[in-house]
Amino acid sequence: MFLQRETIGRVELAFTDREGGFSDGPWGSLNLGTSNGDAPETVERNLAALADELGVDRLVRMTQVHAADVAWAGDIGEGEIPVADALLTDQPGVGVLVRVADCTPVVLVGLDEPVAAGVVHCGREGLVKGVVPAAVAAIRERGTESLEAWVGPRACGRCYELPEAMADAVAAVVPQARSTTSWGTPAIDVGAGVVAQLRALGIPVTDLGEHECTIEDERFFSYRRQGQDSGRFGAVAMITP
Ligand SMILES: [Zn+2]
Repeated sequence: MFLQRETIGRVELAFTDREGGFSDGPWGSLNLGTSNGDAPETVERNLAALADELGVDRLVRMTQVHAADVAWAGDIGEGEIPVADALLTDQPGVGVLVRVADCTPVVLVGLDEPVAAGVVHCGREGLVKGVVPAAVAAIRERGTESLEAWVGPRACGRCYELPEAMADAVAAVVPQARSTTSWGTPAIDVGAGVVAQLRALGIPVTDLGEHECTIEDERFFSYRRQGQDSGRFGAVAMITP
């Protein structure tokens, strides 16, 4: 179920893999995605199993749209699912979930009072729009200055091929994301771009995905490898009660 689980101060974080769920086929087995063709009741079972294993009172998820909007879980009503690409929490026992298959999952951990934590979904568009810096700014606006970040598995810069004009447009905003595929064509490295954005904000990064690639490694779901109906793995952050 877990690629990694850590407790840092009062924040618990976890990155999932494909194991330990109830789905079959391209969603096998711990698919956390709800809009990829998997049976809704099976996905809810997977989400409940994850929440149970983590011991969260409530697991809040978001509808991710490759934008830079940030939501706080405390503002979300029971059963509501906000449209956002960053989901933050300052309430003990409330887990926030990001779901990915090739995009970059990020967990933000607040180290000083008031403790806050969050998850961010960042792909090519989110990198250009600055969703990770937007999430950091939202946490700092509430008074948490000192942060650290965990960055998870994603499509690597040797696999993420793009048309040259598109790769150039990304590199114009985040030069560190420029890359070349292993077969010599234009590419971007979203993870490297995210790490650069975080370091520019003075945030130490633990990069779990530096040597992992969702396209190459079948422990993870991958949109580019599996197509439209690939499952989604994810990351969760929560403040301990
Ligand atoms: Zn790769």
